[in-house]
Amino acid sequence: MTAHWQERVSLKPYNTFGIDVSARFFTQAHDDQEARQALAQAAERQVPVLVIGGGSNLLLSRDVEALVLHMASRGRRLLSDDGERVVVEAEAGEPWHPFVQWSLAQGLCGLENLSLIPGTVGAAPMQNVGAYGVEIKDVFAGLTALDRETGELHDFSLEDCAFGYRDSLFKRNPGRWLILRVRFALNRTLQAHLDYGPVRQRLAEQGVEQLTAQAISDAICSIRREKLPDPAELGNAGSFFKNPVVPAALAERIRAAHPGVVAYPQADGQVKLAAGWLIEQAGWKGYRDGDAGVHRLQSLVLVNYGQASGAQLHGLARRIQADILERFGVELEMEPNLY
Ligand code: FAD
Ligand code: NAP
Repeated sequence: MTAHWQERVSLKPYNTFGIDVSARFFTQAHDDQEARQALAQAAERQVPVLVIGGGSNLLLSRDVEALVLHMASRGRRLLSDDGERVVVEAEAGEPWHPFVQWSLAQGLCGLENLSLIPGTVGAAPMQNVGAYGVEIKDVFAGLTALDRETGELHDFSLEDCAFGYRDSLFKRNPGRWLILRVRFALNRTLQAHLDYGPVRQRLAEQGVEQLTAQAISDAICSIRREKLPDPAELGNAGSFFKNPVVPAALAERIRAAHPGVVAYPQADGQVKLAAGWLIEQAGWKGYRDGDAGVHRLQSLVLVNYGQASGAQLHGLARRIQADILERFGVELEMEPNLY
């Protein structure tokens, strides 16, 4: 067996749904050299590779007949500081939320709305993670990735990444790039984004008088803890479907039949519908079939009550998709990466 490869490893601790499938081979990369070595060994043995970080955006529907490469690299640093704009860099395996908290402790603003998102720094560009009106593209300053086809290092600018709503070049080319480290341009002066959901109200409830990035982060953490299931207690991968962006005419037809529809007009004239609202209207909130279910407070989140398989969760997702299509004429796209 190749050095540092383990065989038939349960992936249950490595995915937040807590699905108990196994990896044919498993290894970890603590630095660039270990990542390169794992990819080279896999190529030599003609074994496919699945890269994972925190496993919080994955639906594993079967055993993984591949090498699972777990990114475990650590390190975060200030790269430049002109007194206002500060560029920071973190290794792919750094857990996201502690990295956000570290940036706040340096007095840096920009990542506060993205607090308490599970997963790693290296996976964040995959779907341009976003929450409460901010996406990483808003503070992105570049990343370094390994081209898995040529073995060459490549630096990506903001434009190169083609970020979209829960989308990027990397998501559209699965298996091509191994993201090694990511850079963010943060500021010493706060530019607060408070107009999304209940953020402003929560700050008022908490009696915050002096608005700081840390206070916004704390408010967002408290909202998220109330609304979202903690994967350590109840398996889930966050939002299971993207919010659909539909033509304005379709949104109007839905509004005519359902005046309460939650809809947000987009700059391009289309309309973003809250997928959670559609699913709740269709009666799925709190639904449970065996150990696969729809969360009782947040209908956008599918949950594993214990022993659900990935195939059962995927089956439930497909039933919801078919129902929403039939009722509203809207196609829901799955957000987690299916294996
Ligand atoms: P994984 O699940 O391990 O991997 C996801 C994908 O990225 C896979 O295709 C994998 O192959 C690939 N990948 C991982 N690391 C690398 C790398 N270094 N290089 C190349 N490819 C890689 N998402 C949001 O956008 N906003 C939210 O607010 C949000 N809230 C969440 C709340 C909860 C409770 C949960 C469970 C999830 C939430 N998510 C959210 C989804 C998820 O946390 C993010 O998408 C996160 O960035 C995934 O990181 P990860 O390390 O767990 O990725
Ligand atoms: P929420 O605040 O109840 O809002 C419901 C939906 O409406 C959200 O999905 C959000 O879209 C949209 N929305 C709310 N205010 C908006 C505004 N002012 N302008 C445009 N769109 C608006 O949502 P929630 O489920 O509790 O989540 C809060 C935030 O965390 C959201 O941004 C959500 O995306 C993010 N989140 C993501 C995941 C994930 O796994 N991807 C999991 C949990 C939370 P958007 O989703 O497009 O922002």
